[in-house]
Amino acid sequence: MKIIFLGKPLSGKGTQASLLSKKIRTPHISTGELLRKEVQKKSKLGRCIATLIAAGKLIPDKDMFALLEKCLPKKQFILDGFPRDIRQAKNLAKLTNIDLVIDVVCSDKTILKRAQARISCENCGHIYGLNFKPKEKERCDNCNGRLIHRTDDSSATVRKRLEIYKRKTKLLTAFYKKQKIYFSVQGEKTVPSVQIKILNKIES
Ligand code: AMP
Repeated sequence: MKIIFLGKPLSGKGTQASLLSKKIRTPHISTGELLRKEVQKKSKLGRCIATLIAAGKLIPDKDMFALLEKCLPKKQFILDGFPRDIRQAKNLAKLTNIDLVIDVVCSDKTILKRAQARISCENCGHIYGLNFKPKEKERCDNCNGRLIHRTDDSSATVRKRLEIYKRKTKLLTAFYKKQKIYFSVQGEKTVPSVQIKILNKIES
């Protein structure tokens, strides 16, 4: 299947995409993760986009597509963080078809609370938050990597990211509803209960 996860930053779409990827053995492509890796590597692209990411702004389409085209599997994938606006969605449609769009819905209040608590592994990207604390304070349970607070999770930057979401990404709801491939799930519930709803949808 070719699946897209939509949702505000910190709605839990990354967590759900990663769980689903393991469950249905389908590659999970997080564009945010791809970009953060470039920044970490200090590649030419990474150096150009570091300040945009830290400010919560979107990176230019030409860079995003160049990166995505290199790693988007042909047969099946779970795409998280892409598309961010109608133009990206239309360009993606030229590359491939999409079977299902899952929108993880969450209030701004919850998002801002989660942003304060979220830490992630700088090595494998595993995420910890309000209800998922690591066993060791600053180390990842999976790979022992260092746990960091993302620079773009400061409350001012999250507000900026929410503003971009409302102005651009939210328009994708109507775009995919029209295609009859849109499914929304309440993201404020527990991770397992959101996961069950998503799995039920996929099985149906
Ligand atoms: P995310 O991890 O999905 O919240 O993405 C983190 C940051 O990466 C975003 O705030 C943007 O700066 C950048 N980013 C991720 N995906 C895209 C995209 N599809 N288009 C442009 N910028 C993106």
